[in-house]
Amino acid sequence: MKKEIENRISKAVDERKEELLQLLADLVSFPTVSPPARNTGEVQNYIANFLEVHQFETDSWDVFPKDPNVVGIKRGTDGLHYHSLIINGHIDVAEVGDESAWTVPVFKLTNKDGFVFGRGTSDMKGAVAATLFAAKLLKELNIELKGDLQIQSVIGEEAGEAGTLSCLEKGYTADFALVVDGSNRQIHGQGGVITGWITIKSKEVFHDAMRMKMLHAGGLIKGASAIEKMMKIIAGLQDLERHWAVTKQYPGFAPGTTTINPAVIEGGRHAAFIADECRLWVTVHFYPNETYESVTAEIEEHLNQVAMSDLWLRENPLQYRWGGKSMIEERGEIFPALKMDAEQAAVQLLAECHQQIDKNPVIIGMSKSVTDAGWLGAAGIPTVIYGPGKLEEAHSVDEKLNIEELLSFTKTLLLFISQWCNTKK
Ligand SMILES: [Zn+2]
Repeated sequence: MKKEIENRISKAVDERKEELLQLLADLVSFPTVSPPARNTGEVQNYIANFLEVHQFETDSWDVFPKDPNVVGIKRGTDGLHYHSLIINGHIDVAEVGDESAWTVPVFKLTNKDGFVFGRGTSDMKGAVAATLFAAKLLKELNIELKGDLQIQSVIGEEAGEAGTLSCLEKGYTADFALVVDGSNRQIHGQGGVITGWITIKSKEVFHDAMRMKMLHAGGLIKGASAIEKMMKIIAGLQDLERHWAVTKQYPGFAPGTTTINPAVIEGGRHAAFIADECRLWVTVHFYPNETYESVTAEIEEHLNQVAMSDLWLRENPLQYRWGGKSMIEERGEIFPALKMDAEQAAVQLLAECHQQIDKNPVIIGMSKSVTDAGWLGAAGIPTVIYGPGKLEEAHSVDEKLNIEELLSFTKTLLLFISQWCNTKK
């Protein structure tokens, strides 16, 4: 039975390759670059129409103005007793930068030497095209599903705008979720990332002329430069980063992956004043057995101790603001980590489907990057990342995707859907 379905799927995908590539060309032609974002309305409309034509119920709502999410659901014939599936992909693409560095058009698909080129081919319109094409072929190959199939085309991933979180907040769920972001068709979990702002703020503002009185004997002014005090905090963060590198580890990650990057610093108001405020923007990486709540608590506890050893900081406590729902609107983001259970039934089935199509066993490991998969996992949905495209290609000049890889992915996806959504709970 499985072999018979596999043959039908493989034949159809190979024969109709041009249709799949045209679909991808259509998606690439919408310049959904983020940031600046607020430009996905048209492509999301295209996707919603496509899904409706192929008998999906759709829902669409603005996560931000002009950036709507789309969810399409194909109801199974016995959703109560059979497994449901979410396939999640983001429709925004990375910034282009200097277009003149490209040797191919950025938003027009170029087919050359076995690859398709264009912004988003690898990250991740190739995978979204494959998902839509799979949705179309289900009907045409008469593959009936007993469980529900849900396709989420989300916005905002590139700028830490959690379109996926918005789907979860609306109540969209399933028994298993596949985030088809580029993983070179390996099955991945991921570490997490949170950004945060650490602020030092003086209760008083002093003119530059007061500096000698706050530094020297007998000056009698208890003041400080927030910029200079931040140097102690940065040194404290480096201590903690080193301590984590030595003491923390997790299978699948190089030791020391848990970095704390002081990415941006802002502070001071004018050369005629003592800096009364300094803000540090940090990016923190953590392992799948940690949460953003636990790591930020560790950072605050450590830095508060550092601050307690400083006579001025003791009275001008550190302020923290962690995470955020958008790098554009709030200058903050969260990508929860994703633990992955290789023994889980859906993961095993996905591995089998991969091997059946690819003839090689799938590699199971940890992503070197972060995706929206962490949100689905954090919501209690067993989730993995599995998609075509290499990490090096994401965000690159002359971004490209191997066509054979795209075809294999489409076949594996169709085979997996046809099996998982027809497996009893
Ligand atoms: Zn991506």
